Amino acid sequence: MSKRILITGGAGFIGSHLCERLLKEGNEVICIDNFFTGRKDNIIHLLNNPKFQLITHDIINPLSITVDEIYNFASPASPPHYQYDPIFTLKTNILGSINMLEIAKSFNSKIMQASTSEVYGDPLEHPQKESYRGNVNPIGPRACYDEGKRAAETLFFDYWRKFNIKIKVIRIFNTYGPRMREDDGRVVSNFIVQALKGEDITVYGDGTQTRSFCYISDLIEGIVKMMESPDDFRGPVNLGNPGEFKIIELAEMIIKMTNSKSRIVYKPLPEDDPKVRKPDITLAKTKLNWEPKVPLEEGLKETINYFKTKLFK
Ligand code: NAD
Ligand code: UDP
Repeated sequence: MSKRILITGGAGFIGSHLCERLLKEGNEVICIDNFFTGRKDNIIHLLNNPKFQLITHDIINPLSITVDEIYNFASPASPPHYQYDPIFTLKTNILGSINMLEIAKSFNSKIMQASTSEVYGDPLEHPQKESYRGNVNPIGPRACYDEGKRAAETLFFDYWRKFNIKIKVIRIFNTYGPRMREDDGRVVSNFIVQALKGEDITVYGDGTQTRSFCYISDLIEGIVKMMESPDDFRGPVNLGNPGEFKIIELAEMIIKMTNSKSRIVYKPLPEDDPKVRKPDITLAKTKLNWEPKVPLEEGLKETINYFKTKLFK
């Protein structure tokens, strides 16, 4: 059955892929974005679709709209972007979540929160299970994002307990793919753009810190499965690829795959940068019958092709 769906942050990297997928399934999609990091370019091909509507709006401010489902994905997501205006990041995650939850409460909409592996902070448990409560520095430079996302999870669960609304909370681990910005600042886009331009590859710290990289199509599949899962499964559930790589390994892979002459240079490790990260996805496997399928090399190939077109055509 066709649904009326609201996607906040719909002009961003993940949001635009989600808009596309849900339109393809025959739904009506309303995309809300303030274009802080999102781009018209990401959704330009959807603008002529009569089932697609774009509303330029900042979710820090309330709005009222009747929808069946809400995907709350609006938030700056890369460290340079969320640290650029930390108060805005907190307001987006806290006031923005309240505004979206109020819509869900008024119109009985099912609502999903895009939470993050950052709620685990610099984890002392490895890999990270959903039961792990994390190791977050509440006064550090990453806190505006980490604590904002943690507060948003709290709000979702309190709205459920108090008003019995249908909530879904996903914790997304590092995801990459086409439509990331060239200047996004996250590691995959930075390294690919640097390698393609023949610039120095900036490894922060000694490069032994690890991350697990999930390709966008796998994540979208997990998101859709979570939204469709039974109402009594609220999460939080980890969505990510458990393959774990050192940042230096990623740099070497990208140099090789792009045939680049770039050199690796070492820059200071940002404060509170997590040393390890890898999702335990047992819960997603059991409850959603979901696991990622795209190996890192294959996903990187697609992403490199995207940036080649973007940079040189
Ligand atoms: P992105 O920066 O490409 O997208 C975020 C979108 O939200 C942008 O279009 C931006 O303009 C919009 N936005 C920001 N603040 C807003 C506001 N106040 N009102 C309206 N729109 C606003 O980042 P992304 O990687 O697509 O991330 C999407 C969501 O997924 C974010 O909530 C992020 O925290 C979460 N997430 C992403 C990852 C990842 O690896 N990509 C990992 C964990 C969580
Ligand atoms: N990183 C790096 N060089 C860059 C960008 C990031 O070495 O140009 C490192 C960063 O310090 C972190 C990892 O890559 O250890 C992932 O960073 P990203 O900003 O992509 O996401 P995070 O998982 O830290 O939110």
